[in-house]
Amino acid sequence: MAGIYVHIPFCKKLCSYCDFYRVVVSGAKNGCIDAIMKEIELRKNYLGNESISTIYIGGGTPSLLSVNEMAAIFNQIYKHFSVKRDSEITVEANPDDINQEYLSGLRSLNVNRISLGIQSWNDADLKMMNRRHDAKQATAALKNVIKAGFDNISVDLIYGLPHSTVKDLESNLDITFSYDVKHLSAYHLTIEKGTVLGKMLERGAISEIDEEESAALFGFLVEKSEAAGFVHYEISNFGKPGYFSRHNSGYWKQVNYMGVGPSAHSFDGYSRQWNIRAVKRYIDLINEEKGFFEREELDTRTRFNEYVMTSLRTMWGIDLNYVEMVFDKEEYDYIINVSGKFMEYGLMKMENSSILLTRHGKIISDNIIAEFMMVSD
Ligand code: SF4
Repeated sequence: MAGIYVHIPFCKKLCSYCDFYRVVVSGAKNGCIDAIMKEIELRKNYLGNESISTIYIGGGTPSLLSVNEMAAIFNQIYKHFSVKRDSEITVEANPDDINQEYLSGLRSLNVNRISLGIQSWNDADLKMMNRRHDAKQATAALKNVIKAGFDNISVDLIYGLPHSTVKDLESNLDITFSYDVKHLSAYHLTIEKGTVLGKMLERGAISEIDEEESAALFGFLVEKSEAAGFVHYEISNFGKPGYFSRHNSGYWKQVNYMGVGPSAHSFDGYSRQWNIRAVKRYIDLINEEKGFFEREELDTRTRFNEYVMTSLRTMWGIDLNYVEMVFDKEEYDYIINVSGKFMEYGLMKMENSSILLTRHGKIISDNIIAEFMMVSD
């Protein structure tokens, strides 16, 4: 069981908070799609004989691709990989790109999950984030996705914008939950250096909400989502039973995956590799079949840190049986020691043979996870 991720790096307009690898859509789009197709072929043995159970087309903005361009990428994957019939196939979409015809086209390609980048139902928030769409377009898009027959729909929201309150979040969640949405990804705004919001922060034009407000928002988000029937299965992700993201869960459960496209990452159990981040250079290197990625072999310590970092963010936590089986006694004892003090403070708990964050622990998950990191030998 493995996954394939395809990174489409183009956007029509850049959002003020975004620090993903993306560029404004240009004439390079066609060359980039051709290069992605070629990369799929070049790397047809990357996952060995594993069959594929999830495909995720992300970005950037994949919904800038026409149905024909999407079809070409899927056909290339089907040609070179064995894709299971019941695979989860996700496409990320921006609300103002999609209409009935487009969505029917995606359905005809066996896409069975849409991740809709709504971010907020409030026009002032959308403007601050420099999103292309407004709330009216988001409503139309979500209705269209439902009408097109998609059952597995995920909505992305961003909360914790400057000056935002619990009431603002409540309104965003109420509107989201008034539709038959099966999954919610809700990310607290992080203002990164170099982004438009980062520059506004530096010159004092905006300020970040404080830790106490952030904690209150997070607590409200979890409570409200759970009350609406969602399971909080990862710090930023909530799913109705049976609708957790299989692709993203694969990342958190050390499932192998191949990422294609500029800046995409891959993992084969022993190493990670990441493609070059510059579109033009990526296209040239793929066409010349020269090194288009960097690679790092993962030593035991790094694999341990990655395992702890990802598993603690999930409802499954650190599985002590797994740690005992895969790592040394030193790592096992270390986990028992470090988790002990957090358990005393009610920030972690033991369930069966797993160590998990409690609700209080989740609020300061980053700080707790940092304490678990072991220094490489
Ligand atoms: S659409 Fe997504 S990838 Fe593109 S700029 Fe906005 S947040 Fe970034």
